[in-house]
Amino acid sequence: MKLGEVVTVTIEEVAYHGQAIGTYKGYPIHMDNAFEHETVRCEITQVNRKFSRAKLVEIVEASADRIDMNRPDLMETGIAPYLNLAYPAQLKLKQKQVARIFENESIQTNVAPTIGMDNPSHYRNKTVVPMAYENGHLVTGFIKRQTANTVVPLDDYFVNDPVIDRVIGQVRDVLDAHQVTPFSDETGLGEMRYIMVRRGYYSGEVMVVLVTQTAELKDEDAIAEEIAAVVPGIKSVMLNYNPRNLHLMMSGDNRLLWGADAIHDTLLGIEFVIGPNSFYQVNPQTTEVLYAMAAKKGELTEQDTVIDAYSGIGTIGLTVANQVKQVLGVEVIARAVEDAQRNVERNQIENTSFVTADAPEQMQKWQAEGLEPNVIFVDPPRPGLTPELLDAVINMQPERFVYISCNPKTMARDIRYLLDRGFELSGDVQPLDQFPQTAHVETVAVLVPTK
Ligand code: SAH
Repeated sequence: MKLGEVVTVTIEEVAYHGQAIGTYKGYPIHMDNAFEHETVRCEITQVNRKFSRAKLVEIVEASADRIDMNRPDLMETGIAPYLNLAYPAQLKLKQKQVARIFENESIQTNVAPTIGMDNPSHYRNKTVVPMAYENGHLVTGFIKRQTANTVVPLDDYFVNDPVIDRVIGQVRDVLDAHQVTPFSDETGLGEMRYIMVRRGYYSGEVMVVLVTQTAELKDEDAIAEEIAAVVPGIKSVMLNYNPRNLHLMMSGDNRLLWGADAIHDTLLGIEFVIGPNSFYQVNPQTTEVLYAMAAKKGELTEQDTVIDAYSGIGTIGLTVANQVKQVLGVEVIARAVEDAQRNVERNQIENTSFVTADAPEQMQKWQAEGLEPNVIFVDPPRPGLTPELLDAVINMQPERFVYISCNPKTMARDIRYLLDRGFELSGDVQPLDQFPQTAHVETVAVLVPTK
């Protein structure tokens, strides 16, 4: 197999990260933008020992589930890789991917159909967009796939709350009128890195964060006033000074330019304070479904002591607090725990406490102290759980262990560990589509000690 060679293959599988895989003379070929059962012509772009990467050249035989949303601009970015797959097929694909991952861990279980959205677009409550110069004016959009900083200009990002898309344009135009310059990685010059916008789904409150390369922005007060004058629902304009080329798009260095330093929104009737750096689920509609389902699967009672591990700003713990005796949360980022505390006070909740600590360490500590939780919720980041945390769970013998995961691979690995140590799955494994049009999937599973 040579670079530049064009071959015809049939796609056998779309793997969990959205890579379509076909084989050519027994040798796997991976590519974007193709779906199961399609026959495609593709050009080899990378040759590895075990597989090659290729670029789609032509669809010879399209899947019955392929649709044409006619958005080549979006497809150039990584925003919505499943855009051209009919939504019911996206849901089926995610169910199948989760089932296959569990099979690979030899876990016998039923994976339920993916719970989806009625309107699976324009759902995100937050976005961070880069900008560039085009014909002497600022443009906003998204980074082109496989490039470091080529911006594809966009007006409709398809996955964002439409108000957020409009706000991006309004902010960009204000910045442009003040001749603010976009930062360029190549020259190291320019003032503005990103525009961040968040909007409360229920509250409609808008926060605009100008992420800058320079400590100050020329005309910043006038810019903030003008943004405040044109953006409906605006509650906060902040400057986030991020001079270093970090992997993170924002630093922790925030300065208030106009209004308040946080906005509010509600989830299942509980009010949350959301600052510029707060982790807050980006799909408010499915998050409510997810938390309500997790609480239901926890079969909570008023006598229960509940752990919320990886608690962020306390969203799971606070939304279940009124159903149980007490909630203990653990989260590693101090600022998030402070937010959780503000949320406790704001909602006058009296039976919760949140600590700043590494979750595995804190779980071992609780276990050593003799804590006997009835229900444990975990919602870890992509790397999943550690053996230390899982061992603490095994030793505490909760009645129910509710695992919420954004990565079915590490989830299946961790569940295998528990199955080998006296736990069993209770009910179906449930995928939920938190991120329609993308390759991500959220999954919930419940484990109980084997009788
Ligand atoms: N349950 C929350 C947050 C989930 S995101 C919600 O739904 O909003 C996962 C969280 O785990 C993040 O807040 C992250 O900061 C936290 N985290 C990551 N590593 C951790 C660790 N080792 N110990 C505790 N928390 C950790």
